[in-house]
Amino acid sequence: MKGKIGLEEHFSHPDTLGRSHEYCVEAKWGELRRRLMDVGDVRLKLMDQHEMEMMIISLNSPAIQAISDVPRAIEMAKQANDLLAEHVSKRSDRFRAFAALPLQDPEAAALEAHRCISDLGFVGALVNGFSQVGDEESAVYLDDGHYQGFWTEFVKLNRPFYLHPRDPISSRSRIYDGHPWLLGSAWAFGVETATHALRLMGSGLFDRHPDLQIIMGHHGEGLPFLIWRVDHRVATAPRGIKIKKTFQEYFHQNFYVTTSGSFRTQALINSISEIGSDRVLFSTDYPFEEISDAAKWFDAASIAENDREKIGRLNAIRLFKLAA
Ligand code: ZN
Repeated sequence: MKGKIGLEEHFSHPDTLGRSHEYCVEAKWGELRRRLMDVGDVRLKLMDQHEMEMMIISLNSPAIQAISDVPRAIEMAKQANDLLAEHVSKRSDRFRAFAALPLQDPEAAALEAHRCISDLGFVGALVNGFSQVGDEESAVYLDDGHYQGFWTEFVKLNRPFYLHPRDPISSRSRIYDGHPWLLGSAWAFGVETATHALRLMGSGLFDRHPDLQIIMGHHGEGLPFLIWRVDHRVATAPRGIKIKKTFQEYFHQNFYVTTSGSFRTQALINSISEIGSDRVLFSTDYPFEEISDAAKWFDAASIAENDREKIGRLNAIRLFKLAA
């Protein structure tokens, strides 16, 4: 279809580029590097070939979240956001931006979100899971009590928050010992991010902020398939949880999912039937995935044409207040 809009599409700052090297084989690193550093002709040519009108661009993973030195994380986020703003300003007809946030310091993260969204015109934020704070071994999740002020400020901006995957730190990933192929986007990303999203729901975050909207990639990291069972079992063994709604209600009211890196019609139909076609959005996960794979699959997927228009374009226009 014409005019597709993608919103899990990445670039890199030169100083965060190295973190993407482990996610590709050596023979392909040169090309991946070139594509991550380009926010211009290389990606525009591919977008044109596959009728993708716009990308909402974000920094690679884990980038800022893995910088345990707090002042350095704050500075790096500013630099990356400034670079992205410069790129996007050259082709604002084709590119928009998500802010990278230094959640090592919640106050600085709230200020940076405000600067990017209110001053630079970014359309939301994209954060790569938990943050390492002051210590490489730490993992601070976004349901932590010291983020309450951050969420209060972020909600005032009335923009969505993309919860993007990262790997667990190695001291907390013994389940993968001896099976390195399970790390990264093959499996560990999904487990990590789906669990993080459930933590947000179970913490009461959406009771405090019912208008907060979270986007998850990769068909919601499996949650459309699993969310009913979470409720079913938590109802049987609540273990002290105190929330006002069911997990399924939070998922339906506070979450969107994208097709990034998961070009499978069965998964798409499951997402549509669980969360509804108004809350599913097209994305590719470029340059870790090929735009051609995503676009050819999506354009031919056996779904209703009005759903294809919504998922491919109209939902993004509405959610990000883009001009049609
Ligand atoms: Zn991604």
